[in-house]
Amino acid sequence: MSIRILPEEVASAIAAGEVVERPASVVKELVENALDAHAHSIDILVEKAGSGLIEVADDGHGIPADELPLSVARFATSKLRTAEDLFAIRTLGFRGEALSSIGAISRMELISREKGEPVGSRLVVEGGETGKLEPCSAAEGTVVRVRDLFYNVPARRKFLKSQTTERRRIVALVSRYALAYPHVRFRLLQEDRIAFQTSGKGDRREVFAALYGVEIAREMLVIESSSDTPFRIEGLISPPTIHRGNRRDLTFFVNGRWVQDISLSTAVLQAYHALLMVNRFPLTVLFLELAPESVDVNVHPAKAEVRFHHQDQVFGVLQRVVRATLLGQAPAPQVQLPAEWMPAEWQPGERQYASSWPRVEAEGLEQTIATAPHLQASIESDGLPLLRAVGQVGAAYLVAEGPDGLYLIDQHAAHERVLYERMMEARAGGAIEAQVMLEPITLEFTPDQAYLIEEQLEVLRLLGFELESFGRQAFRLRSVPSMLASANPEHLLRSVVDDFEEDETPLAREIEARIAARVCKRAAIKAGQILALTEQQSLIRDLERSASPRTCPHGRPTMIHLSVDTLERQFGRKG
Ligand code: ADP
Ligand code: MG
Repeated sequence: MSIRILPEEVASAIAAGEVVERPASVVKELVENALDAHAHSIDILVEKAGSGLIEVADDGHGIPADELPLSVARFATSKLRTAEDLFAIRTLGFRGEALSSIGAISRMELISREKGEPVGSRLVVEGGETGKLEPCSAAEGTVVRVRDLFYNVPARRKFLKSQTTERRRIVALVSRYALAYPHVRFRLLQEDRIAFQTSGKGDRREVFAALYGVEIAREMLVIESSSDTPFRIEGLISPPTIHRGNRRDLTFFVNGRWVQDISLSTAVLQAYHALLMVNRFPLTVLFLELAPESVDVNVHPAKAEVRFHHQDQVFGVLQRVVRATLLGQAPAPQVQLPAEWMPAEWQPGERQYASSWPRVEAEGLEQTIATAPHLQASIESDGLPLLRAVGQVGAAYLVAEGPDGLYLIDQHAAHERVLYERMMEARAGGAIEAQVMLEPITLEFTPDQAYLIEEQLEVLRLLGFELESFGRQAFRLRSVPSMLASANPEHLLRSVVDDFEEDETPLAREIEARIAARVCKRAAIKAGQILALTEQQSLIRDLERSASPRTCPHGRPTMIHLSVDTLERQFGRKG
């Protein structure tokens, strides 16, 4: 084929794909336009998770009637004049691509009435075809209705995630913008239900409370850089007592723009270093205000990334300011092992297995095998020999002896494995036995988490978690799996949500296993917990009976084996 310049409609379809990846991108562009128009109030209406209808109505300055046809043309913008302007962007939009892109891949209706004008006007764009401009009655401001998104791009429609995922992305986006613009009243209606709204009174903590609940909002630390930092940082950060299982709640705005930036997250995580346990993450909403010429926002059509001219400086300042706030406002509880662990369990009198090992125990196990034939194969292949508990090291590892040497067992990983297999086995026999709580507990979630839970109610029920919707963002937990009844039920349920946020679309058949693995991890004995020798021995017994005793359900090893041979070599007894 010879080289050709692409026809206009092909070129704009390609460009549209970069700006509008999914329904949430449409919401983002339209909300940004409303904010650029200095709206005080923004109403967002979503049907069929955005593929039916997305409507964004604002009370901003509107578009003059004679400019309306231009606003939907490609590279048409009122926000940029010269190439130099690109280096000091003060608005959210500037590429002049959003309306034209959206119009190219949907049926779009644009109604606007400029401030001070008696009437408004209306324009329809369908699949890139612009209709006639008509006068119409309208409130001051702008309404954009986007119907049948991607109707003419079936390939893109196929790639859309589940409706819940799309809804969740939309509510996450709107709520982030509401945090950044507390003076603007936001209202998001999804499928006839208010998914999120704010008052527009300008109180950021109030918006934060609408999103994360009053209790967390109350605990959040206010961050504010002093006047001698090279740029302004303000926002809210969680004290070390509040944490999450993933990074989703690290939110950053740079000059009013929500950005995803690894280096900013890293700086914040470093500031929390040693204040949080491994794999726990803080919750932050941070606003960085830099001179516009020191940030490049024109990195990608979706404008979700930025480049800093002085990357290291931004990193360093952010880390210092967050660290100073943490240390200043909350005295640091350092994460550490318990100060002491008593070697009392090591008393020789308690070693009841010492003399009788291994015969008596072997008999016990043979009986188990006889009644549970499915265990047999595994014990022969991957299984463990009989082990004798010797003691505990650092309140985290069990030391055990077997016929072929020494075993160091991670008590947490081992218990996780045991619980997980028990749970999956119980599930194979039907719904898991649930223990009904005396008092149901009410748990609040963020709007996007609420969508997640709603979608998994049935799976959770089969696993023993009986939940019912209780208001917009809350659920009542009525029961927990009996086998995990000793764990904190709230922690169990929250860990499930954390996991789903990490990876959004697990396969249906994986969901149960993933939830089970998650809650078992949460319920398992922790490092730092001191176990009596009898408890150690019984955990080891349970592990011996597992089908895959050598790894935890997440694939990490549960044990290290030092064979007699290795020991002898290490001690120079053998060459
Ligand atoms: P950009 O925002 O990058 O300028 P858009 O395609 O999003 O490009 O919008 C094109 C132009 O239409 C904007 O520059 C602005 O002048 C006008 N416009 C779009 N939406 C609104 C709105 N909600 N209120 C007022 N003007 C708007
Ligand atoms: Mg725009």
